[in-house]
Amino acid sequence: MAQTETHAFQAEIRQLLDIVIHSLYTDKEIFVRELVSNASDALEKLRFLQASGKEVLDAGITLGISITTDDTTKTLTFCDTGIGMTKQELVENLGTIARSGSKEFIKSLTDTKEKSLELIGQFGVGFYSAFMVSDQVEVYTRSWKPEEKGWKWTSSGSGEFTVEEAEGLQRGTKIVVHLKQDQSHFSRAHEAEAILKRYSNFVNADIELNGTKVNTIRAIWSRPKNEVTEEEYAEFYKFIGHDSEQPRYRLHFSADAPIAIQSLLYIPKTSIENLGLVRLEPEVNLYCKRVLIQAKAKGLMPDWLRFIKGVVDSEDIPLNISRESMQDSSLIAKLNKVLVGRILKMLDEEAKTNPESYAEFFEAFGHCLKEGAMQDYTHRDGIAPLLRFESSVLEAGKKTSIADYISRMPEGQKEIYFLAAPSRSTAEASAYLEAFKNRRYEVLFLTDPRDEFVMDSLREHDGKKLVSVEKADITTEDSPVAEGALDDKEARKLTNWMKELYGDRVDEVRISKRLVDSPVIALNADPFTTASMRRIMRAVQKNETATPDKAHLEINPSHAVIISLAKARESKPEVATIVAQQLLDSALLAAGIHEDPQTVLKRMNDLMAAALK
Ligand code: ADP
Ligand code: MG
Repeated sequence: MAQTETHAFQAEIRQLLDIVIHSLYTDKEIFVRELVSNASDALEKLRFLQASGKEVLDAGITLGISITTDDTTKTLTFCDTGIGMTKQELVENLGTIARSGSKEFIKSLTDTKEKSLELIGQFGVGFYSAFMVSDQVEVYTRSWKPEEKGWKWTSSGSGEFTVEEAEGLQRGTKIVVHLKQDQSHFSRAHEAEAILKRYSNFVNADIELNGTKVNTIRAIWSRPKNEVTEEEYAEFYKFIGHDSEQPRYRLHFSADAPIAIQSLLYIPKTSIENLGLVRLEPEVNLYCKRVLIQAKAKGLMPDWLRFIKGVVDSEDIPLNISRESMQDSSLIAKLNKVLVGRILKMLDEEAKTNPESYAEFFEAFGHCLKEGAMQDYTHRDGIAPLLRFESSVLEAGKKTSIADYISRMPEGQKEIYFLAAPSRSTAEASAYLEAFKNRRYEVLFLTDPRDEFVMDSLREHDGKKLVSVEKADITTEDSPVAEGALDDKEARKLTNWMKELYGDRVDEVRISKRLVDSPVIALNADPFTTASMRRIMRAVQKNETATPDKAHLEINPSHAVIISLAKARESKPEVATIVAQQLLDSALLAAGIHEDPQTVLKRMNDLMAAALK
């Protein structure tokens, strides 16, 4: 009969143990992650010993981790064929808190090529997390050293542990976790499987649960690009993306500075956000050495990149001891900067090499980029070239970048012009457009309500101002004077009369140099906002605090209606009055700054009556 030795945990160790068991971790389930990580480290060390030519016990057995659940005995057993522990190691590593055998192992290495060894353990507390769910833990272990015997370590996690010799063990470690009454649900196979998949799916070893392999997807992000096949990329996306379609874009990269990163990110083909029902959440998970630290890690991706899915792995990040988050939040900001920069660069390249596909991407996620342009000052300059807008020179549905717009600017054009309208057809019919058409200046059509706010925050592109056509100071170019056009004196008489008639409804009535086909145009006199911005603001403020719009009215002295109006003013003053009022209404309506569209209908009727008289 082998002799059993009883060891007491030192007093301070007992206190530490208490902290680990009761307050270190927020989720009890992480004990699975910790025990699997230890098994993975044990295997990694064995591989290393074998690679460096050491003769190991049971050299032929398969390297792997096998876990079994037993719902009747309420136990969970973790088996690995790694390096195992000698009696001394057992007492030192599991009898002393905050002593990491893994850390010691790495320290004992001197050669630089050995640095490639990637161990997860570093704090020397993970093992004790088993006592959060267990009132008895048994560890059966046998070292790789051929002359060593097998040992059994037992503890209830309170004051002491025992060590005794164990017969018939093969190399490696078996840990039996006897679950506490109220934690016995962990012995259900499907629960164990879910936890394994969540945290340990990508560890560097095969994991079997009750005889079936659970981690079928490999951590391909940590492999060089040319060693990963298209099938593997596709399969990985299916696993993390929960998407039946293939992704549109993929970004697989690694970086060393300012922090070591291995990352694999995807952009889906379509957006469910466009249906207006849900809002996406960034699904980028943070890993450290292939072990999950944070799913959907907060702050890793800005909100406007919430369509990105994937994995970021950094072995450099200083983890807190519970390994549930990072110690240093400024580091998240650093990661964020590197990642966003890479994504923007990738999108820019994709836009250049395959504009058709990029156009589809922009349809799906352009609204997110626009949010970024409005909110994210740091990345604004990187986002601006990725934006696309409809334009007066392109056919409906086609979009242009601002850079392409600039490349088409005729000589003499200094600014970039845009016109906001609810639809393309409204934009095309706008009187504002006439002078631009006349000068052959292209105008961007902003049909998405966000666009104007985007322009407002961009302000300029490549040193050229972005200007609303409503604000642009522009005249038509040498338009021929129409026959019968009012001369300056006649026109001024008419504008004076009109201003008197309109009273406070307009600030000023003046002679236009920007009209070709329309009789009049109303210009918003507010220097800071455009009509459609005011519309949005009015909707938000529910009309309470919005100040009334101020307008300038400009008349086209060459237009038939204006010429006739000047005459009618003397011959048929009543009709002239109604027509003049109607002209103002139409102009305000067209400009989107009419206060009370209802009144227009009544005047329409008066006008028809007068016409038929
Ligand atoms: P850490 O993993 O951070 O070092 P742990 O408390 O998880 O700390 O484990 C303490 C030590 O116990 C490990 O460093 C390792 O030396 C040893 N150990 C734990 N589990 C195993 C195992 N399955 N096989 C071999 N050694 C192990
Ligand atoms: Mg550990």
